[in-house]
Amino acid sequence: MKAFVMPEGGQTDIVEKPIPQPGPNDVIVKTTHALICTSDVHTVKGALPVANGVTLGHEALGVIHAIGSAVTGFTEGQRVAVNAVTPCFECRYCQTGYTSQCGGPLGGYQYTAQRDGNMAEYFVVPHAKANLAPIPDDISSEAAVYACDMLSTGFMGAEHCYLRLGDTAAVFAQGAVGLSATIGLSLLGASRIFAVESVPNRQELSKAYGATDIIDFSEGDAVEQIREATDGEGVDAAVEALGFPQTWESCLRVTKAGGRVSNIGYHGENPNPLQVPLDAFGLGMADKSIHSGLCPGGNDRMQRIFALIRTGRFDPTRMTTHTFAFDDVGDGFRMMRDKEDGIIKPLITF
Ligand SMILES: [Zn+2]
Ligand SMILES: [Zn+2]
Repeated sequence: MKAFVMPEGGQTDIVEKPIPQPGPNDVIVKTTHALICTSDVHTVKGALPVANGVTLGHEALGVIHAIGSAVTGFTEGQRVAVNAVTPCFECRYCQTGYTSQCGGPLGGYQYTAQRDGNMAEYFVVPHAKANLAPIPDDISSEAAVYACDMLSTGFMGAEHCYLRLGDTAAVFAQGAVGLSATIGLSLLGASRIFAVESVPNRQELSKAYGATDIIDFSEGDAVEQIREATDGEGVDAAVEALGFPQTWESCLRVTKAGGRVSNIGYHGENPNPLQVPLDAFGLGMADKSIHSGLCPGGNDRMQRIFALIRTGRFDPTRMTTHTFAFDDVGDGFRMMRDKEDGIIKPLITF
C-alpha cells in the first residue's frame, strides 16, 4: 500500500508499506477520505518528536478491510470513521474520564506520535470496539471526516467555556478548529461571538457558522476592539485556537472577572514558557479559570457529532477549500504549510 510519510525531519514522501494486519483488538480500515491537519505541518517542522519514516495523518475514514479476533459488532465493507485520539478506555487515566491523557500526558494521541498515522491506503484502528465509529447512511464521508478532529477539538474548546445561555465569547483565529469552536459556541447558546480573524473567506464562513462580530486584528488590537464593543467589560469566555503567545495572553486580557479561558491551540513551536499577564489575572485572584484539553476520542463522541451533522445544524464541508487525489497529497501538504490560496482544509480522496 502507499503511505504519506515523514522520511526525516522537514520532508514528506509517498512510500510503499505492507498492508497492516489486525491484532486481536484492532480493525484495519481501507481509506476513502482524509483531511490534512496543521498538526502534521507542526510535526514535520519538528515540534513533535516522532520516528523517521512514520506515516502522517490522523483524520481519516473508510470501509472495514479486516477485523481482529476479539472485535465484535462490525462487518467487512462497513463505512467507519475513527477519532484522531484513540484511547484504551481501560487504564486509570481513562477511567477517571481523561481519555485523551490515556496512559499519561497526551497518551491518547497515538497516530503519528506512537504508531503510524492514517494518511495511507490502509490503517489500524486500535481498541476498535471503543474507538471505531460506524457512519450513519445519511451522512456523506466528506462531512463525516470533520468529526475525526476539527469538530471534536473545536467543540471541546466550546465545551470548556462552560457557557450559561446568553454568555459572550471570543474565539482567537478562525482556521478549521476555530471555526468549529464558533459552531460549538453558537450551539451552546452564546449571545455574542467575537471571531478574531483577518482572512476574508474565513471571516465569511465564521459569520455563516454563528459569529456575530468579526474582529479584524489587522485593524487594531483585538482585545481593545472587543472591549470597545462590550462597554469596556470584555467577554465571559475566550477560546485560544491558534497556538501563539500573543493570542494566549489576549484570551486572559479579554475575559471579564469570572472568565473562562479555553485553550485548544498547540503551543509546541513556541520555545518560551507561556506568560500569564498578572493585571489581567487579578494578581492571581481574578476568579478566572484556564482549561486546556486534547480532542476527545471514542465512538460515543463521534456519534454525537454525527447526530448534529445529520440534523443539518451546520455543514462542515464548507471548510473544504481544496481537494486532492492521494497521489497529490504532497501538494496539499505544501499549500497547508504555506497557507496558500485561502486554504482552510484540503480533502484527500483515495
Ligand atoms: Zn488534526
Ligand atoms: Zn487509557
